[in-house]
Amino acid sequence: MTKLKLHWQILIALLLAAIAGSVAGTDATLFGVRWYAVFDFIGTLFLNALKMLIVPLVVSSIIVGIAGIGGGGAFGRLGAKTLIYYATTSLLAILIGLAIVNMTAPGIIDGQPAKERLGMAQVNEEVVASMEGKGAGDLVGIFLRMVPTNIVSAAADGQMLGLIFFSLLFGFFMTKIEEPYAESQYKLWNGIFQVMMKITDWVMKFAPIGVFGLVAKVVAGTGFAAIAPLAWFFFSVLAGLAIHSLLVLPALLYFVGGVSPLRHYRAMAPALLTAFSTSSSAATLPLTMECVEKRAGVSNRTSSFVLPLGATVNMDGTALYECVAAMFIAQAYGIELGFVQQFTVVLLALVTSIGVAAIPSASLVAIAIILGAIGLPLEAIGLILAVDRVLDMCRTSVNVFSDSCGAVIIARLDGEENVLPDTPPSAAKG
Ligand code: ASP
Repeated sequence: MTKLKLHWQILIALLLAAIAGSVAGTDATLFGVRWYAVFDFIGTLFLNALKMLIVPLVVSSIIVGIAGIGGGGAFGRLGAKTLIYYATTSLLAILIGLAIVNMTAPGIIDGQPAKERLGMAQVNEEVVASMEGKGAGDLVGIFLRMVPTNIVSAAADGQMLGLIFFSLLFGFFMTKIEEPYAESQYKLWNGIFQVMMKITDWVMKFAPIGVFGLVAKVVAGTGFAAIAPLAWFFFSVLAGLAIHSLLVLPALLYFVGGVSPLRHYRAMAPALLTAFSTSSSAATLPLTMECVEKRAGVSNRTSSFVLPLGATVNMDGTALYECVAAMFIAQAYGIELGFVQQFTVVLLALVTSIGVAAIPSASLVAIAIILGAIGLPLEAIGLILAVDRVLDMCRTSVNVFSDSCGAVIIARLDGEENVLPDTPPSAAKG
């Protein structure tokens, strides 16, 4: 009997989770144990396993990848292409969001600002308190932490940018030391990397069960009722994310990378579904790397640089969401934003999407910064909290998808031939 492919298994788990979550809710019990607690246990176990892999996988993969590229020109070219890709796609995503939110105007109902109608019953004091005082200073802080004072505490705190920066330096300077040390270092780190990929492979087998737990918990806890009053906002974000991930990125894959977008979707399915379930690009990173290397055929040399960096700084879905959310809140408060203010929103969405952590609900902090910059009160964020979690699931998938498209496109531009083979002949590079 042929075994069902992993992405089908995950998809089925997702559907079962939606059913189980909505039937169980938060209170139903079995032998005195709440189903909700069981979902939580399963999901957390899977999430922990993914998080456990991040530090050793990211460090070893970057070191091996960069040492493989060697210092100097090749590294500079890869870096330049990667940054151009990140900046371009994030900006495109934000502009799509801006166009949609101006067209649909979800914050205006029957010609009136929607603030009163929407109410803010869901304001979560804790969330608002945690954002108190967030401003441009926090942005600077994010970039300051890029150069960590203590690499061990950066790893312990999950400060990815600092970790990436140190690993890049380590890999780069490994190529500058003498034999036999250079070779023994390379063998050591490559060995660690291979082991980490094997463990990832193993953890991935549990994805259907983990995804079931994570999604059942969200459905049981949130339900779908919360979405109704914010339907316009909700669908505006979804429409933007859909245009970006079903039209813009596939067009780039096809025309710039010369590969079939459909093949790429298929290759990335397990990672995308995991991103959807975990709402965290960082937790999904091990699977993203596994899928991009093993299923899409991108070399470790490219993926080890593009993906960890992408998970941290390239967040198209997040950037789009920040823009739509800030504009929506301004509309709901009856504040007309002129060109300069809309430009500020775009710019801040771009910069903060680079800086926000790749964890659930991280966008909220960025939105707080944007609201401050355009003169809106912090509590205004209460308007969107009810739908944030579900939209987080969607935007995180788009974040991960964009990283993976970047890896494929850059690999193809570098002349890699084994990427998603059987490319359409008309699009393949001559
Ligand atoms: N959850 C997102 C991610 O990890 C970040 C965000 O938009 O909140 O990619």
